[in-house]
Order: sequence, then C-alpha cells, then structure tokens
Amino acid sequence: MHTFERSLKIMDKQSDLIKNSSANQLTDLFGMNHEKVLICQDKDSGLKAIIAIHSTTCGPALGGTRMWKYASDMDALKDVLRLSRGMSYKNAISGLNLGGGKAVIIGDSKTQKSANLFRAFGDFIESLNGDYITSEDVGISPDDMIHVAKQTKHVTGLPGKKGDPSPVTAFGVYMGMKAAAKSQFGNDSLQGKKIAVQGVGHVGEYLVEYLHKEGANITLTDINDSLLSKVSKRFNCNIVNPDEIYDVDMDIYAPCALGATVNDSTIPRMNCSIIAGAANNQLENENIHGSVLMNKGVLYAPDYLINAGGVMNCYAELHDFSNEKVMQMAENIYQTTAEIINHSKNNNIPTFLAANQKAEERLKKESSK
Ligand code: NAD
Repeated sequence: MHTFERSLKIMDKQSDLIKNSSANQLTDLFGMNHEKVLICQDKDSGLKAIIAIHSTTCGPALGGTRMWKYASDMDALKDVLRLSRGMSYKNAISGLNLGGGKAVIIGDSKTQKSANLFRAFGDFIESLNGDYITSEDVGISPDDMIHVAKQTKHVTGLPGKKGDPSPVTAFGVYMGMKAAAKSQFGNDSLQGKKIAVQGVGHVGEYLVEYLHKEGANITLTDINDSLLSKVSKRFNCNIVNPDEIYDVDMDIYAPCALGATVNDSTIPRMNCSIIAGAANNQLENENIHGSVLMNKGVLYAPDYLINAGGVMNCYAELHDFSNEKVMQMAENIYQTTAEIINHSKNNNIPTFLAANQKAEERLKKESSK
C-alpha cells in the first residue's frame, strides 16, 4: 500500500484509539502512570499490537517488541504496561538518556508473521514521531525489523549493525555478580565458587564462558538437552535436570531462562548466598520475595540493573558508539550494583526496592530539569 494511504488510515484509527487508550483510564486501571498507550490494528495485514510509552522523561522511550499468542487482549495489555514501566526503570538506573516503552504484537510468531504486518507496525511506530524506538524481543528476529525499518527510522537491532546483544548482557550480569560477591564474600573473585546456571541459551552460554575463565565450579541445567550437553562439554560443567537446580549445593544461583523462579516453593530449597542472573522479573512477587531473601541473608542483584547490557547495546547502535565503549558501559554495572547494595544496607531495605528508589530518583531529577 502507498505510504500516503497508510498515513491516512493511521490518522483515522488514531482518533478512535486515543479515545480508547486515554492515559487517565489506564492510570485508574493500573496506577502505573503511562504517558501514552496506542492500540494498533490493521485489518489488511492482520496486525493487532499495543505500544505502551511509560515515560519519556529521560529521553525517547526504548524497549523491544514481543510477539506472543496471548490468552486474551487484556493479558497483552497488562504485559505491555508492566514491561514498559520496567524499561523506564532499567534505562533510568543505567544512566541512559532513554525513556521506557515496549510493544506487543498479538499473534503466533511461528505462523502469523508477514512483511505487510511488520510494515503496518512500522507505520504505527512512525506515527509516534520518535517518542518510541523499538528493537527485538521474544518472537521477533532482526530480519523482521528490516520490514519495520522500511516505514520508520525508529528501530534498533537491525542486521549488520550492533547485532546480538547477548554477549553484552552476559558481561553486565557477570559484573553485577562480581559486585554482589564482593559484598557477600569480602572479595569479588568467583574462583572456586559454586554457581548454578539455569538456562544456557544466548546469554547463559556467554555467562558460563566468563565464569569458566575465572575458575568457578559450575552446574548447569536447561530443558534443551542438546544445548545443555554442548555447553557443559565446552566448559567442563556438571549438569542436573531442570527441577533439580534449586537443590544443588551452590553459592550463587544465576537464573538465565525464565521469570518468577524465585518464589514460595523455590526459596526454601535454595541454599545460596547470592542470586544474580539475566532473566527478567526473577522474583515472583517482589514485595514478598525481596524481603524473604533479605531476611534469609541472600543477596539479590536486581535483574533489570544487571541485565541492562542488552539495552546499552541498542543505545550504542543509536549513537554509533564503538564496541569498546558499550563494554565499558556494561562494566559500569559493577559500580552501580555496588551502590545499590550499599543503599539497601544503609537503609535496611531489600535490594529491589533500593534499585527502584534510585531509578525513581533519577526520573524525578530529570523531570524537574
Ligand atoms: P534464550 O531463549 O536464548 O535462552 C533461554 C534458555 O533457557 C533456553 O536455552 C531454554 O531452553 C532455557 N529454558 C527455558 N525454560 C527452562 C527451564 N524451565 N529450565 C531450564 N532452562 C530453561 O534467551 P536469552 O536471550 O539467553 O535470555 C535469557 C533470559 O535473559 C530471558 O529471560 C531474557 O528475557 C533475559 N534477557 C536477555 C537479554 C539478551 O540480551 N538476550 C537481555 C536482557 C534480559
């Protein structure tokens, strides 16, 4: 379809959508104070998507697009609202001049992708005039982004640019883990430390490489047997079944697969001093489980702080930074994690809360400028 026709179609839809997605309505519903929520529908391509801009206080809202077969549209809305707020906090605490946003495309990423769907989605992003910048998330590949980029320049993670963010994410997680080790063990060496890694996918494998180089005693698990066998052979690690990972003898638990693995049933089984991994939303309920961990003497390195290497990679792509500069930014996660741990100790509050307070402090400071 001609770009001009697409623009007209979007303008028509926008008036309806703005009515349907008034910020006040969403604040009443969820109290998360989003700036803007856009419901995107294109009948020709079958696109159904939601773009949520939580905050542009620190800069344009950046966050990936997820394609998922949600059980209901309301589940998709809840997910995008929660994830976009998370991005505001992550970008704020990482010192990036970026706000928080996220998009979800409702559909099956295996059967419902098409060039037209991604082009229609690109038109909606373009209609936000740069307030939202996208990248890949679950279910989306760099190749999908090529179609989005035909309609808008507000895209990162394109093939041939900064590429896979996982190595940078893994390095940041490693830095956060070392800062936590310094606090718990008196020095940041991981040599001989017993570390249990759950998930040896993109990030997990790079993390294991760093841990192996430092001489850690590593136990791995994954539901993908061939990947598990490949990584364990490469780095000479022990392996256990997925459900056994919480019971192994470990100093550090590194969740690099799923969210919510730190919960009522796993915490009593875990006999570790530190939790530090790449997965998002590791605490099933941060208010409850953040305090339970603190009372148990387990140091939790806040997930969105130590896994921020991925978003740093996007930021670097936007600003044309060198690979060395991105790695320096990820190295700085060590310092930020140490500051958050100190803030938590000084105020006797869980680390997740210390991180949230620091992120909110920056948002407040930027909004008063
Ligand atoms: P991935 O899909 O490449 O790897 C995840 C691995 O976990 C897979 O090998 C999968 O088989 C395994 N897994 C799934 N369920 C499991 C279970 N129940 N027990 C054990 N293993 C299981 O994903 P990734 O890119 O490596 O990301 C890992 C986590 O880090 C995800 O939660 C992701 O959201 C988060 N994260 C990733 C990045 C990044 O740069 N890739 C950035 C920030 C956060």
